Amino acid sequence: SKRIILKSFPQGHPKESDFEINTIEIKEDEVKDGQVLVKLLYVSVDPYLRYRMKQVDNKAFQGYKLNEPLTSICLARVISSKHGSLKEGDNVTSWNLTWQEFSIVKGEELNKLPSNDLPLSYYLHSLGMTGFTAYFGLLSVGEPKEGETVLVSAAAGAVGMLVGQIAKLKGCKALGIAGGKEKVEFVKSLGFDDCLDYKTVDNMDEAIKKFCPNGIDVYFDNVGSETLDAVLLNINDGARLPLCGSISNYNDTKEAQGPRRTFNLISKNAKMEGFLVSKYGKDFGKAQQEITEWLKQGKIKEQIDERNGMEKIVPSFIDLFHGRNTGKVVVKIADE
Ligand code: NDP
Repeated sequence: SKRIILKSFPQGHPKESDFEINTIEIKEDEVKDGQVLVKLLYVSVDPYLRYRMKQVDNKAFQGYKLNEPLTSICLARVISSKHGSLKEGDNVTSWNLTWQEFSIVKGEELNKLPSNDLPLSYYLHSLGMTGFTAYFGLLSVGEPKEGETVLVSAAAGAVGMLVGQIAKLKGCKALGIAGGKEKVEFVKSLGFDDCLDYKTVDNMDEAIKKFCPNGIDVYFDNVGSETLDAVLLNINDGARLPLCGSISNYNDTKEAQGPRRTFNLISKNAKMEGFLVSKYGKDFGKAQQEITEWLKQGKIKEQIDERNGMEKIVPSFIDLFHGRNTGKVVVKIADE
């Protein structure tokens, strides 16, 4: 069984040489009571994995270890089972499955997927962690109200593309920020009212002011840094700023500088709030049901940026930090 291990902790941007593909033998007769043998079908690569490559180990993020296989949110098929509620052929997801073609895992760590007509890969996007991030980050932290202006950065990415669409469903004006002309067109095709190409911008403060003439009520931040700084100058009274990600800092080799325009939060009685999606774990089922309905009714458009094969996992992960993706990056490992 092919697998991917971490060879060195990346310095700055991750490189292919920080990783290695090797093989390990997995034997079906080694499956013990309570365990199942699974075949990997799809791998989700996500920006936060970069943080796990930083020799961290805290409550929120389990750090990867050198020379050990990497893990992420994955979708797999049960090949054989010694677990009471899982059987051969079941499709399952796990938030921490090894990047390995076949694995023996505890059945209790897997979530069995419902069967419906939706493509399986959606469970790694709108119907999975990423979708829940957009849903709870916007609705529970951002608390958008009808008629308000919602701005989201990395708008053509996995989380961002859903945030703007959910904002529209709630009767808001949805504005996006994304890198490049094609991404801007993609974001508009989702129903966003407009999208700013930040790659063409010289002065972010002025660009945001011009782009959001009525100010910003909710800023869903995926990137941090100068975009957040510029937004802080343009928030409305009572604005809410869910801090979801700060991808512009993930490859920094020194600690980033903090936001310095906090007086604008004070003078506007505004709220800036960081969140981890896991905080809303007990309500994931409810969110999944609602998003399933939206998808079936065509109220939310999906975009899976699908790649193929074990060899593509690492390059696809690296691509996230260069903006080389549109929608959710999912790597297909085996046919369904
Ligand atoms: P995306 O699909 O949005 O991919 C990342 C995108 O970020 C790229 O396509 C690129 O878009 C943009 N980007 C990359 N580098 C930079 C940079 N230096 N400056 C500005 N933009 C950059 O990823 P996700 O949707 O999966 O994740 C989006 C954010 O949400 C991340 O910060 C992630 O860590 C965070 N997140 C947080 C969670 C939580 O629980 N709080 C859960 C899940 C995700 P472009 O070409 O437009 O620049």
